[in-house]
Amino acid sequence: MMVLENLRPIEGPASLRIGIRGGRIAFVGEDGAGPAFGPDRVIDLDGAMIFPGLINSHDHLEFNSFPALGREHYANYVEWGSRIHATCREDIDRVLKIPPAMRVQWGLYKNLLGGVTTVVHHGPAFPLENPCIRVFRECQSIHSVQLEPRWRQRLNNPLQWGRPCVIHIGEGTDEGASREIDRLTLWNTLHRPLVGVHGVAMNTDQAAHFKALVWCPQSNFFLLGRTAAIDQLGRHTALLFGTDSTLTGDWNIWDHLRSARDTGLAADPDIYDMLTTTPARIWGLGGGALAPGCAADLTIARPRGDGWNAFYALDPADIELVIAGGRVRLADGRWVRALTHLGHDFDGWSRVLLEGREKWVPGDLPGLARQILAFDERAEFPFLCET
Ligand SMILES: [Zn+2]
Repeated sequence: MMVLENLRPIEGPASLRIGIRGGRIAFVGEDGAGPAFGPDRVIDLDGAMIFPGLINSHDHLEFNSFPALGREHYANYVEWGSRIHATCREDIDRVLKIPPAMRVQWGLYKNLLGGVTTVVHHGPAFPLENPCIRVFRECQSIHSVQLEPRWRQRLNNPLQWGRPCVIHIGEGTDEGASREIDRLTLWNTLHRPLVGVHGVAMNTDQAAHFKALVWCPQSNFFLLGRTAAIDQLGRHTALLFGTDSTLTGDWNIWDHLRSARDTGLAADPDIYDMLTTTPARIWGLGGGALAPGCAADLTIARPRGDGWNAFYALDPADIELVIAGGRVRLADGRWVRALTHLGHDFDGWSRVLLEGREKWVPGDLPGLARQILAFDERAEFPFLCET
């Protein structure tokens, strides 16, 4: 049992303690109540904010070494794709020289540094040994109606029956982007559970055919100058949140959350639900809440202030502890001594500096950055490596 004490939820004055055992939350209670545990079990987190580990429902892990590509707004994703292939050839070729396995590793660290404990990867499957966070792949990825030639056969593959089908859909502002949504739902003859990504062109009737819609506002504004009408669509389908890759957005998920909040389309607790309870239910993760029995996927941060304003002002530098499946996956330097005292072994971990704050992560992140730079000397990372 590991007991985290002196924590506070986003809202409310309570001072919490949370017990973790066997990868799950064993108990949640107020500090000072319940049984006492010895100092070899307890870590006092000095009033930090705790929330469930974030669930990023849309990313392409191997595309996070790209800079944002495209300088204008496009009518749809097909137009964007053909324009960047015509005008950004040099950038694309440069990044594609980096082996995909290295780009995937950086994609995982990108999520971890932001406090994400589960990422839903979209795209081809690849081998993953001991990833630093959970990668959800119990779904079928179809790129899109227009760019995946065999989408109908893949959608109607009886061997995939019952599995969610995740597909970019309605990513445009033109008639075609809306029509492709109808084509998809018309061809869903096996009534597969559909999870759409983007849905900028989606209307409420169309939304009712989807089990969920992944909202990626920053990617939408970058590509199209507009985002999905999630205030209305959310009455007809479940809403999840995704960052997409750095091809169309910032590496920092908190920047995406501020973009989402700035739209005024969803209330603060609703955006939070799109990253926690709702994706936990839709993907069947058994977590997403601070409750006994839930998977111990937890993020602990040092906010400036209280309440929702403080939550949405967070940045990766403020993340102090990330626990996924009950295992510490990221620790701010200030907790290394206390965690070592609890028996956590930092052997095989590395540290980087994020805005001057030391973050410890499993594996060799500085080494990965050096390897990537050997392939692409213009690669950029948001951290400094200590020498
Ligand atoms: Zn995508």
